[in-house]
Amino acid sequence: MEPAGKCAVVTGGNSGLGRATAEWLAAAGADVVSLDLSGEAPEGVRFIPCDVSDFAAVQAAVDAIEGPIHILVNCAGIGAIGAIATPEGPGDMAAFRKVVEVNLIGAANATAAVAARMIGNEPAGEDGERGAIVNACSIASFEAQEGMGAYAASKSALAAMCLVWARDLSRHAIRVNGVAPGFMATPMVAMLPEALVDELLSDAEFPKRAGRAEEFAEVVDFVLHTPLLNGEVIRLDAGTRPPARTKWSMG
Ligand code: NAD
Repeated sequence: MEPAGKCAVVTGGNSGLGRATAEWLAAAGADVVSLDLSGEAPEGVRFIPCDVSDFAAVQAAVDAIEGPIHILVNCAGIGAIGAIATPEGPGDMAAFRKVVEVNLIGAANATAAVAARMIGNEPAGEDGERGAIVNACSIASFEAQEGMGAYAASKSALAAMCLVWARDLSRHAIRVNGVAPGFMATPMVAMLPEALVDELLSDAEFPKRAGRAEEFAEVVDFVLHTPLLNGEVIRLDAGTRPPARTKWSMG
C-alpha cells in the first residue's frame, strides 16, 4: 500500500507514536485524518475529535471523511498500573475496564467502522489490495510486568486480533498487522522517574535506549509497503524481555 494519494486514518494521531505516524504519512503524500480525544493534529493533518471507545462517535467521525479510506493506524491508547488485588482489597476495576475500553475496544471500533468502508474500495496495485490496518501493540502483548494486568489484557488481545482480523478481511484484500514497541520516548511515559527508565532500558539487548516515535512510523511504513506481511506482529524493542518486576514495583 503506497501512502501517496491515499487517505489514512490515525487514531491518537495528535501525540507520540500516532503523531509521528500521521506526520510520516502526510510527508509521504497521504491525506491524513487524526481521530483523537484532544490536542492538536500535526500541520497538514485533519483533526476530528473522537473518543475511540465510543462506537457511535467513531462511526460519526468516519462518516465525516468523504471518499475511500485506505489506511488505518490504531495508536490511541492509555496506560494504568495496579495489582489485581492487595491486602487493602480488590484492584481498581473501573481503571481496568477503562484501559480495555480504550486500547482494545477502541481499536476494534475504529477497525470495524473503517474496514467496512475499505471493503468498498477499488482493488489497487498488482495484488488488488483495498486497505491496510496497523495496530499499535506493545511489548506487554507478550511479557507484561507486575501491575500491568489491564494494559496487558488490552494489548495481548489486540495482538491476537491482528491474525483474526486479517482472516476476517482477507477475502476483501485488506491486511491487518501490528507493531509492538518496547520503551518509546513519548508523552505517555514522560512522567516516569529517570531511574526507572534507566532500569527498564537496562533490560534491552542492543541498543539500550528509548525508541523514537519516528522509528515506529518507519516500521508502519515498512508494513504498509510489504504486501506479504499479514496477520503479523513485529516487535520493536531492541530484544528486551522484561523481568517480572522492577525495584519500583508495588510490593
Ligand atoms: P501518547 O499518550 O503520546 O498518545 C496517545 C494518544 O491517544 C493521545 O493523543 C491521546 O489523546 C489519545 N487517546 C487516548 N485515549 C483516547 C480515546 N479514548 N480516544 C481517542 N484518542 C485517545 O502515547 P504513545 O506513547 O504515543 O502511545 C501510542 C500507542 O502506542 C498506545 O496505544 C500505547 O499503548 C502504545 N505503546 C506505547 C509505548 C511507549 O513506550 N510509549 C510502548 C508500547 C506501546
